Amino acid sequence: WGKAEGVAKEERILVSVRVRPLNAKEIEKNDPSDWECVNDTTIMFKNSLPERSAFPTAYTFDKVFGHQSNTRHVYDEGAKEVALSVVNGINASIFAYGQTSSGKTYTMTSITEYTMEDIYDYIKRHEEREFVLKFSAMEIYNEAVRDLLSTDSSPLRLLDDPERGTVVEKLTEETLRDQRHLKELVFTCAAQRQVGETSLNEMSSRSHQILRLTIESSAREFMGKDSSTTLLAAVNFIDLAGSERASQVSSASNRLKEGCHINRSLLTLGTVIRKLSKGRTGHIPYRDSKLTRILQPFLGGNARTAIICTMSPARSHIEQSRNTLSFASCAK
Ligand code: ADP
Ligand code: MG
Repeated sequence: WGKAEGVAKEERILVSVRVRPLNAKEIEKNDPSDWECVNDTTIMFKNSLPERSAFPTAYTFDKVFGHQSNTRHVYDEGAKEVALSVVNGINASIFAYGQTSSGKTYTMTSITEYTMEDIYDYIKRHEEREFVLKFSAMEIYNEAVRDLLSTDSSPLRLLDDPERGTVVEKLTEETLRDQRHLKELVFTCAAQRQVGETSLNEMSSRSHQILRLTIESSAREFMGKDSSTTLLAAVNFIDLAGSERASQVSSASNRLKEGCHINRSLLTLGTVIRKLSKGRTGHIPYRDSKLTRILQPFLGGNARTAIICTMSPARSHIEQSRNTLSFASCAK
């Protein structure tokens, strides 16, 4: 597999924070907004609370997006470069992390769409290469992996392939005919997520969703170029389970098995990200959860990662917002 030249081997994780606007319910309840984005990299706690001294009041990240930022801007500054490295043969992952109702799905849905548009645009402009695109999608719920492109909801096994690393056995991989085909599949996934669930929100707050676009490209023979370089890489869009799950269970000793499982993936991801951000040395516990096992090839080594942490500005969510900001701080 060819590797693009001129790309730094160890890139840091691109970490950004997005604060959504207050929603109608928060406004109605006079729930005040506590956070101010003082510039495009710093967010500050702007009110005084008795316990405030126990926490930092200002946090700095690669990018901070206030309530007035649209998702196109978040994409341009916080995801695009990382996501599009896939066309150069570099694996990439874009994560949305945050408590339920903070804007993960809202953000990730459009970022996925914009990336796909840009990739098809890139392909149109590079006729000297031939591209084959494949799409797959899965959901991890309670440490069980489910294929979002199949109506069969039985859990899939993870296998260790000597060449490819961890692979999801029997995962559907659709070869894409065109951009429209891709859009239809993404739509199918969203619908699949709801099957058999009484409450979509409840389900999405507990499950991790991974959409994966794999791109293989090679030089066309007729261009008279060296056709030996084949680039193969994938970009993953990960809409994580609500981060309140992690803090809830970690703060209580005895919980339902389900609760522990939901957390295993989120907590392990936190550990893996923290270790990676400190320089990718030593043991990284990818194998401790399904999510990190599946994403291992897309996290370490030469891969690129962007994390968008979403939060509500409301006072009533302050505890979760602080948890999110400290997760983001550990990742940078
Ligand atoms: P999550 O996936 O984190 O649970 P959602 O993405 O479903 O949260 O967002 C919760 C609600 O807030 C949705 O109705 C969504 O449309 C709205 N929302 C989220 N982020 C924004 C934003 N930046 N601007 C406007 N509305 C938003
Ligand atoms: Mg969601």
